[in-house]
Amino acid sequence: MADLNTDILVAGAGLNGLAVALLLAETGASVIIVDPLSEKQLSDPNRDWRTTAIAQGSMRILDRLGVWQTDWLGGAIREIRIIDRDSPFYLHYPGDWLNEGALGCVVPNSSLWNSKFEVVSATPRIKLISGTSISSTEQLTSTVRAELSDSQIVNARLLVGADGRGSPTRQRAGIKERRSDYGQISIVTTAAHQFPHGNSAHERFMASGPFAILPLPDNQDSDAPWPHQSSVVWTEGNLQAARLLELERESFDRELAIRFGDQFGHVCSVGPVGSFPLALVTAEKMIGPRLALVGDAARAIHPIAGQGFNLGLRDSAELAMRVGERLELGLDPASPDILSAYQAARFMDAAGLVTATDSLNKLFSNSLPGLTLVRSLGLAAVDKAPPMKRLLMKHAMGLAGQSAALAGTKAV
Ligand SMILES: Cc1cc2nc3c(=O)[nH]c(=O)nc-3n(C[C@H](O)[C@H](O)[C@H](O)COP(=O)(O)OP(=O)(O)OC[C@H]3O[C@@H](n4cnc5c(N)ncnc54)[C@H](O)[C@@H]3O)c2cc1C
Repeated sequence: MADLNTDILVAGAGLNGLAVALLLAETGASVIIVDPLSEKQLSDPNRDWRTTAIAQGSMRILDRLGVWQTDWLGGAIREIRIIDRDSPFYLHYPGDWLNEGALGCVVPNSSLWNSKFEVVSATPRIKLISGTSISSTEQLTSTVRAELSDSQIVNARLLVGADGRGSPTRQRAGIKERRSDYGQISIVTTAAHQFPHGNSAHERFMASGPFAILPLPDNQDSDAPWPHQSSVVWTEGNLQAARLLELERESFDRELAIRFGDQFGHVCSVGPVGSFPLALVTAEKMIGPRLALVGDAARAIHPIAGQGFNLGLRDSAELAMRVGERLELGLDPASPDILSAYQAARFMDAAGLVTATDSLNKLFSNSLPGLTLVRSLGLAAVDKAPPMKRLLMKHAMGLAGQSAALAGTKAV
């Protein structure tokens, strides 16, 4: 077998692997993506039936890449309500507040993956080698030489690790990780409900973790008693989650209805109920010789703010921008200064979200007397302070500072 030569080799064809490949190909780079799963496994809608809340800034990047589909707007988030347990105070973001369209949009992961895959397949500069993984890599002077599990050799100028939270690429490069288990599990399901959600997203902080209700388009075809549906990300401590996951569906639905309250009328779960143990995993660094990490391979954060994929997409956009500039000048796209600049540019955004999600989870999953009052007053205070409220939302939408530039738009 003759060696394959490419500008960029991407390990991982997950949501971030396909995104970074598309963004890099947009700059003129040739890209090979490798993933141990077969194409059939990767595109199977049952592999990852979760949904992802896509921030407005990410919607713009996906639109530019030709991935965005307008019918996803049925899951648009036009309003957000954040509440602490049963407190009468809450933080409310009305939809038209920033005049920037939807605050975000909830998209099924399988639709997102398949839409990206369609664009990848139609991009001649990208080749996906599925059902194969990288067995070993060797740094040469101007390339990295990767041997795949089927003995194929790929020579690339830059290796991008987009192979998830346990990233074998990160481990092979000897980059240490910091890991702290949250002792929590996110239970994920879809709920059908009697009343429409009005494209409103709700997050209620409970003692054991956040309970999020995210709008989905109505489903007229399902056997559910009501067409209105929302995605649910329900975080509990490990023991309580294990108890809930063992319940018969009817008892599970009773518990679900208690968390929902009565604003959506009757509620029941439809489709699968899945569980995701939560840990904060951060790589000590995002780069190595001829290596850059993106997405969960660089850090996997708590889903409390629905930001993990959005953050990874901004890694990819930043990396592609820097690599593209070098390729245009005919220079090495993986020189140490370029990779260091990439890492430095991603520091504030990533460190900010790691800290914010970690602290929010600790602050709100705490029943210390007095804290409840402080939290409620905090939410009420932000609600009544438009500049602070606006700043937080700009960040959450991926429309602040450098994030806005990566989305190809002006900061709002
Ligand atoms: C409950 C929950 C809810 C979430 N909700 C949101 C949300 O609403 N919004 C948001 O922005 N984020 C959300 N996230 C985070 C988001 O799901 C992740 O950040 C994102 O899916 C990570 O994608 P990735 O491509 O980096 O990694 P992965 O999805 O883990 O993909 C890694 C890929 O690498 C491949 N791979 C593995 N080993 C190798 C190897 N040796 N060589 C090559 N490839 C390999 C795998 O097969 C896989 O295809 C949520 C997370 C959780 C747990």
